[in-house]
Amino acid sequence: MKKKKIGIFSITGCAGCQLSMIFDKRIFPFLQAFDVIEFPFIKAYAKHEPEHYDIIFMEGSVSSEEDLELLKRLRDKTSVLVAIGACACTGGVQCVKASFNRADVEKSIYSKPTAIGNIGAGPLSKYVKVEYAINGCPVNQDKLFAVASALLIGKSQVPSDRSVCFECSLRENGCLLDKNKPCVGPITAEGCNALCPSNDAECIGCNGPLKEANREAFLEMLKEKGYTEKRLVSLLDKFGVPDGINKA
Ligand code: SF4
Ligand code: SF4
Ligand code: SF4
Repeated sequence: MKKKKIGIFSITGCAGCQLSMIFDKRIFPFLQAFDVIEFPFIKAYAKHEPEHYDIIFMEGSVSSEEDLELLKRLRDKTSVLVAIGACACTGGVQCVKASFNRADVEKSIYSKPTAIGNIGAGPLSKYVKVEYAINGCPVNQDKLFAVASALLIGKSQVPSDRSVCFECSLRENGCLLDKNKPCVGPITAEGCNALCPSNDAECIGCNGPLKEANREAFLEMLKEKGYTEKRLVSLLDKFGVPDGINKA
């Protein structure tokens, strides 16, 4: 059987998703099942880009014209596009600046803001069709392997409809909300085995929003606990949220 052609690509981000992939000892035997065309951290750039990929995995947010150009070109060449990590799925930590005046942010960092050419950070799905979005900062490896394995044998994966609270209760953790700590686990998709609450730290939402969550009710509950609107925005904008902070 012909191996599926795959490519792993990066746009604006910290490259931590790719790094975490190569540090997972399952990756190298797994890659043998594919024809790996691009994987910058472990392979030189292909001299001739193929006409077609079966699957492209892309990390990073779309933040510049160059990012957008690459994304669109690769979208046209691939059967399946998989967004990996919070940057690619929801815009990531770069979206924190969306809560501030853009000109003020640019002026505070760069001496010549006109030379920046930034189009504002956004997820891949803001511009092109994405078949799978595997969230996490860095990308959740177990989910990545589950999706990649399913694609390898031509199956599809159904997204989870459970929150971090589900995993938290399996681990028999006490709830941080009861200690008045603003944990956003109830509106965040599972997949990390409730890593942060299990270590007494609030979930800050790196797995991305849980689509079915009752976000309004959750925010209302936090307001009743005394959290201001400003504090709620700062809780929710850490990894970017598609279509604005209040509409995940
Ligand atoms: S999701 Fe996190 S680890 Fe991955 S590229 Fe973005 S900032 Fe880096
Ligand atoms: S600590 Fe957070 S994740 Fe765990 S049950 Fe409470 S709200 Fe949910
Ligand atoms: S508990 Fe929340 S912030 Fe921590 S790893 Fe899981 S999803 Fe990310």
